[in-house]
Amino acid sequence: MSHTCQAIVFNCMDFRFHSAVRDFLVSNGLKDNYDLVSLAGVTKGLADNDPTSSEIILKQIEISQKLHGIKGVILIHHMDCGAYGGHKAFENLQSEHDKQTHDLTQAKKIIRGKFPRLEVKKIIARIEEKDGGSLIDFEAID
Ligand SMILES: [Zn+2]
Repeated sequence: MSHTCQAIVFNCMDFRFHSAVRDFLVSNGLKDNYDLVSLAGVTKGLADNDPTSSEIILKQIEISQKLHGIKGVILIHHMDCGAYGGHKAFENLQSEHDKQTHDLTQAKKIIRGKFPRLEVKKIIARIEEKDGGSLIDFEAID
């Protein structure tokens, strides 16, 4: 018996994003069609060449490919990430966005090097506090 899904998704462990991430994936046609891994800072450790993080991330992709025949990897980083020290660790939003983009690009390069057949999508989520609630949007990075 085999069961397959479309992708493996990496998102941050940050509780603020889970239902928004789920809605985002469902609206992109991935309802019940992805494996999910939640890690603080997502692929920060991979981009930083941290051996423990790299091993965990690459191993999960390998297992997902082997067991579920995934076609792609979706990396969802987010602004104001505690693993990066939050907004306050950066001079401004642009430099924070640049760092997130850089790390996603680095992670994609490493993943594609090991799994050349998998498509890798890079996403940055943004959270905005508004009227006592929070608004989250997702930006695809080229
Ligand atoms: Zn985070």
